[in-house]
Amino acid sequence: MQDRLHMTSHPGTNPEPFTATVAEIDEDFIILSESYCYPRGGGQPGDRGSFNGNWGDSEFGEVLGGNFIRHPVDSPDKFSVGEQIECRINQEVRNRHAKMHTAQHIVSAMADDLWGAETAGNQISTHYTRIDLLFENREVYDSQILEDSVNDIIGSNTEVLVHDWSREKIVGHEQMRHTKFMDRIPSSIPTLRVVEIQGIDLCPCAGTHVENTDDVESIVITNVKSKGAGKFRITYQFENELE
Ligand SMILES: [Zn+2]
Repeated sequence: MQDRLHMTSHPGTNPEPFTATVAEIDEDFIILSESYCYPRGGGQPGDRGSFNGNWGDSEFGEVLGGNFIRHPVDSPDKFSVGEQIECRINQEVRNRHAKMHTAQHIVSAMADDLWGAETAGNQISTHYTRIDLLFENREVYDSQILEDSVNDIIGSNTEVLVHDWSREKIVGHEQMRHTKFMDRIPSSIPTLRVVEIQGIDLCPCAGTHVENTDDVESIVITNVKSKGAGKFRITYQFENELE
């Protein structure tokens, strides 16, 4: 069984290089004995990076999940089952996803607090993020109010904590958001990771996050698009990256 270390160890940013054994080569994918890589999921892209073995360096593309964490490579022939290799996660890409993802929690929490709008889906990218918000009456929506509320929190020096809580504790917690999807997680998994932005947001989440809201840049909502009855798809970017 492969150890999925991104779940038990939580350096949301600046993940360190690690050494692992090649457990299997599945067509163009390398499967390791253990991996700290984040596999694509929950709207967040997977990590990318490079391997180092006695044959030199070899980059891997976006890591995918499934039964195993799978690292796609161009030349799988280089690798041999049983060899030890070093894995370096691209820290810059990871850090950007962690910032974008933490901002997503805050945007979703504020839309819920302000208007009871539910986050129906989200897609995080390196330079922008999209969130689908579902309103009872979407006429209440105002980008400026949402943007200001989110940026107040981003600048509030609030800690982002990670907990490992039982299902009972999660489902029974009054402040917990986004528990609907929990039905899809096998009951053989007794505890789930919960991410808390103190006093702002609390929800089960397996993605990567920064440790303090000050690590996130202020956002600008750059696009709002209708996605059918009661639904808006909003896009945000970091203010310091606007053209
Ligand atoms: Zn998250």
